[in-house]
Amino acid sequence: LPGNAEWQTRKEAAMARGEGNIAPLYVERAEGSEVWDVEGRRFIDFGTGIAVCNTGHRHPKIMKAVNEQLKRFSHTCVMVTPYDSAVLLAEALNKIAPGQSPKKSMFVTTGAEAVENAIKIARSHTGRRGVIAFDGGYHGRTLMTLGLTGKVAPYKNRFGPFPGDIWRAPFPKPYHNISVEDSLAAVDMLFKTDVAPEDCAAIIVEPVQGEGGFYPAPNEFLKGLRERCDAFGIVLIIDEIQSGFARTGRLFASEYAGIEPDLMTLAKGLAGGFPLAAVVGKAEIMDAPAPGGLGGTYAGSPIGCAAALSVIDVINDENLTERAIHIGQKFGEALRSLQAEHPDLIGDIRSDRGAMIAIELVHNGNANQPNAELTKAVLTRCYEKGLIVLSCGMDGNVFRFLPALTITDELLDEGISTFTAAFIDCAK
Ligand code: PMP
Repeated sequence: LPGNAEWQTRKEAAMARGEGNIAPLYVERAEGSEVWDVEGRRFIDFGTGIAVCNTGHRHPKIMKAVNEQLKRFSHTCVMVTPYDSAVLLAEALNKIAPGQSPKKSMFVTTGAEAVENAIKIARSHTGRRGVIAFDGGYHGRTLMTLGLTGKVAPYKNRFGPFPGDIWRAPFPKPYHNISVEDSLAAVDMLFKTDVAPEDCAAIIVEPVQGEGGFYPAPNEFLKGLRERCDAFGIVLIIDEIQSGFARTGRLFASEYAGIEPDLMTLAKGLAGGFPLAAVVGKAEIMDAPAPGGLGGTYAGSPIGCAAALSVIDVINDENLTERAIHIGQKFGEALRSLQAEHPDLIGDIRSDRGAMIAIELVHNGNANQPNAELTKAVLTRCYEKGLIVLSCGMDGNVFRFLPALTITDELLDEGISTFTAAFIDCAK
């Protein structure tokens, strides 16, 4: 049977190189927090398919719900002849979305599509064109979302021109000396230099910046954006695609700031491994586009909807928000003792948003000297040692840890030890 190396050779010959892969690890099967490759090697999964399998691989309840759905039908198109699971899921999401205002939902298939639709809805509601996003933000790879994404390499290089009417402000990063005041002042400056607030449809922000480096948005920052949106009738879009569904220790990360989003984009963890995305928001905003104005052939696949309904149950039944906090604390302790040994190399630890955890690797303990080489070396070593882990960040020097929230303490400890050992190997 072909092994990893042969599959990798064939992949490189058959698939466009733009769709790169982190490791030549060809998956045979996955269960809970473990993945086995085609050579029979077993890995602990701290990546969960980029924050998708928050409920672990093949959670029995989710598998059962999907199997039940498969016995009934797999596709009819929600825009032609809809079905119960889409309505039930919309009702459930409307109920769990933060804030008191009546909510409505719409479904698509990917995160980028959810963001595209949120912008369309905001523009339709306001009749305005401008959108403000943030440096280091990531919102997807389609053209509008690439326009919003604030990171050139590898996402934007040579893919322009991008849509107009998008402006960007710095995202607050205390570790890099960008304060909440700096960021909010930059937004206020955009209102003078680029887009009148009366011409601004939306501000879109991640409550924990994801691909850009796992920087939690300070509560005062989100509150400041909420105030500006309220003052000028701008739609506040909170992109919870990576941070949502109990990942950060709250069902949605914006709950830390206690703000009510106007619109929220959801994907990834929403359906625990099945392709589904949603926009959930204030009913009067969601209803701005006329019938037929939104949708897509696979919008709200019945398989995804069945999975998502079950994901919500599992999060509640297994107290996964609490588990996320426990996971963050465990990582925090381990990473702080590693940092104490290597203060020159581990510049910052971000572990106060549940299981959305990161460390930033630097030279000489200097925030302005990113250590991408060490990050890459440790990453490779982790895969050699049997751990799936991801990096991120504007300078490729951030490790992000996204274990399943259902992970056992034994596997969590084992995975953390593997990471620590890999780090020590490479730091020598
Ligand atoms: N927004 C955020 C915050 C994301 O993290 C991602 C995916 N990494 C997206 C949007 C895009 O989602 P998708 O890849 O499903 O299009």
